[in-house]
Amino acid sequence: MSEQLRMLILEDSEDDAALLLHELKRNGLVAYHERVDTAEAFRKALAQGEWHFILSDYRMPGFNALEALAILKESGADLPFIIVSGKIGEDLAVAAMKAGAGDYVMKGNLSRLVPAIQRELREADERRRRREAEEALNNQFRQITTIFDSMNAVVSVADMVSHELLFMNRFGALLVGEEWQGKKSYEVLNYNQSQCSSETLVRNGEPRSPHVWEYQNPVSGRWYQCIDKAVYWPDGKLVRLQIGVDISERKEIEQMKDEMISAVSHEMRTPLTAMLGFTEYLLENEVDPLQLRNYLNTIHKETERLKDLIGNFLDLQQINARMTTYRMRPVDVCMLIRDAAGLFALDAGGSRLVMECPPDLPPVQGDEARLHQALTNVISNGLKYSPVETRVTVGAETAGDQVVMRVKDEGCGIPVELQEKIFEKFYRIDNSDRRHLGGTGLGLALVREIVTAHGGRVWVKSEMGKGSTFYISLPKAG
Ligand code: ADP
Repeated sequence: MSEQLRMLILEDSEDDAALLLHELKRNGLVAYHERVDTAEAFRKALAQGEWHFILSDYRMPGFNALEALAILKESGADLPFIIVSGKIGEDLAVAAMKAGAGDYVMKGNLSRLVPAIQRELREADERRRRREAEEALNNQFRQITTIFDSMNAVVSVADMVSHELLFMNRFGALLVGEEWQGKKSYEVLNYNQSQCSSETLVRNGEPRSPHVWEYQNPVSGRWYQCIDKAVYWPDGKLVRLQIGVDISERKEIEQMKDEMISAVSHEMRTPLTAMLGFTEYLLENEVDPLQLRNYLNTIHKETERLKDLIGNFLDLQQINARMTTYRMRPVDVCMLIRDAAGLFALDAGGSRLVMECPPDLPPVQGDEARLHQALTNVISNGLKYSPVETRVTVGAETAGDQVVMRVKDEGCGIPVELQEKIFEKFYRIDNSDRRHLGGTGLGLALVREIVTAHGGRVWVKSEMGKGSTFYISLPKAG
């Protein structure tokens, strides 16, 4: 020990203290010392200084070693405490040792003192080292637990043979319940054994490479990527580490992508087949001008449909990928309605459109091009899903801090239970009377994305066989 030793002497007799110091010096043990002989002075000395060991007389006027030991314990310090006293009797000596004294040396036999001090110092040093190592280990454990707890994944460790759970992180405990301790892993993690046996993880007593698989919880429906690996636990035993990362969102996106691709390719085939068929026919056959016009009309319509399909699809993709930027400014609602209706002017259906727009409508806050797109989709549906001899009315009115646009048709209507569903991507009401109309099921999904991004709302009221009214409400500008 390179630093200077500091010793506290509890002794009322100055002569006896001098004797102790002399004995220490004689044995080459040099120590700074202070002498106290009351409880109060002892407390003060403990609080103020850092000490390496204490030599204490047993009995002092108004104070004794047992009281000193109690004070020392109370202070929390772990200091070697050696009683150096006249004969005190076995009972008291035992009591003192029980109270925490390290040794008892008689004043008449001081030759034992220095070896006792040296031994006590060594032991205290060992105790300190052990404490520090434990503390460091605890710290490390806390750090690792903190890391595992903050992961969005179930992390568990279980005994390879008995399957008893040895560790579970916070995320896992929240999922399976706080009472996981003492349970078997297959009781709480219901995917456990069926997928991956212990033999998969260990060969010839050595851990093998991790086993990775995907699993869907049948109760919650959530998807996990599971990684199972045999690892050595601190006690040297091989245990099973399981990490289950929640990949539900990725799965959802993958599934959506698959659905999109299959739906789009399916929808593309119909117009492409028509276009191909008619152009081939025209290339190979002589046709009269009226027929030619008819065929070209069909080709044109199918081309338009394909264009719409691709346009809607790309728009939706962009909105979903949050790549769309909205340029918000005040938009005149009547102008918006007029422009959207104008698109259909050249169509056969154009003459069916009726506009009801009060002149004093306040502007809404929005991206004009996007709102135009939304309104056009709803109007085009109105025309598409109602008989040619009926009217489609487009109007708007104020309602509090909103402007509500409406598109009313006298068509086939939408069953109540589907009035929410039709706004989902690719959802189409697929019955015989509408199948010939074609479509992608993307139009209303796009409308909802656009309107929601504007802080607005879109909904429908409809009665089967009588017609539907679609409403789009948007916040007023300013
Ligand atoms: P698409 O028209 O391409 O099928 P949409 O997303 O625009 O896709 O519409 C979804 C479904 O909602 C349509 O398949 C149709 O059955 C129904 N729908 C939409 N608008 C109307 C309407 N005005 N009247 C009756 N049904 C409608």
